Amino acid sequence: MFAVLLIIMVSGCANEKTWTSGSASVSAKGEKADAALFAMDTYMSLTVYSDDAYDLAINACERIFELEKLFDPDLPESEVSRLNVSGEFTVGRELKEQIETAALVKERSEGAFDLTVGALVELWGFGDVPKVPSNEDIHKAISLCTDIAIDGSAVSLPEGTKINLGASAKGYTSNELSEFFKSAGVKSALVSLGGNVQVVGTKPDGNLWRVAVQDPRNENAGLGVLSIKDCAVVTSGDYQRYFIEEGVRYCHILDPRTGMSVNNGVCAVTVMCDNGLMADCLSTAMMVLGKEKALEYWETWGGYEMLIVTSDNTVTMTPGFAASFEPDENLEYSVEIFNEE
Ligand code: ADP
Ligand code: MG
Repeated sequence: MFAVLLIIMVSGCANEKTWTSGSASVSAKGEKADAALFAMDTYMSLTVYSDDAYDLAINACERIFELEKLFDPDLPESEVSRLNVSGEFTVGRELKEQIETAALVKERSEGAFDLTVGALVELWGFGDVPKVPSNEDIHKAISLCTDIAIDGSAVSLPEGTKINLGASAKGYTSNELSEFFKSAGVKSALVSLGGNVQVVGTKPDGNLWRVAVQDPRNENAGLGVLSIKDCAVVTSGDYQRYFIEEGVRYCHILDPRTGMSVNNGVCAVTVMCDNGLMADCLSTAMMVLGKEKALEYWETWGGYEMLIVTSDNTVTMTPGFAASFEPDENLEYSVEIFNEE
């Protein structure tokens, strides 16, 4: 009996495979692999179930580092930097897809969402030491939030205009990884890139994936849990990157039309959508639009569901979101379902 147990334990250890590279580590056992890494300024984790789970998780980590090298505005050789510096660049499909999706959201949101916020983001100093800029500098920076010309893969920007993929790169990445897993026949995977979660299929036992939605005003509390399959859940909020000056909270989401940090009573927006890139663009866009315009956008364009948390302690959900959401039993917010009869 003891011998049998020992053999099982030894073979159990032998079955566990591990890999590390830079900040990434993968461990796999049987048909499950877990990966953890730090990239794009965020802690990321992946779980994949498949016969090839170990190799797929390693490939996914390597791909994240490749994508980070394309999108990093602080890396002189990234595609984004080369475009920003020269004003003209033939971009790869990764950047092209973000520019195209962003252009659609920009048009529909009447400029609330705009990848050309690069100069404005630098001015506010969110990557560095943030400060409230002068009106004159804000004015200059918003004149550089403008249209991106794209012809096939040739992109050009007006003089001084810079793009910033902070609101779309993680969504692009979770979406590409999900597509990659699906094309490899994976039926069950979870990609979690900071506030961006995307799942492939269901959990291996057929149950839905459960994703907690955080309370933007209490980091130890959750608003509730969303049960999902085959979709992305992305949260944008004013509570992770912000500073307070003279009693006013300034968050890292900026309104390209006024140049100001968003302060419209919306604390956080969670978007659920089958496309991770779209979900990422939309969650930021909804923050900028504010509650009323965000709900108008949803009514007009649809294709996603959302939850909005406002500073009057209200959680407002679209009906499709509410149908998949189980509020926390101690929730200290009033709950509204938009447009419910
Ligand atoms: P997070 O980076 O926390 O996931 P978001 O997806 O909402 O949050 O992206 C916010 C980032 O997007 C900012 O740090 C900035 O780089 C950029 N950004 C800020 N305002 C806008 C905007 N109105 N449109 C597009 N990008 C924006
Ligand atoms: Mg976003």
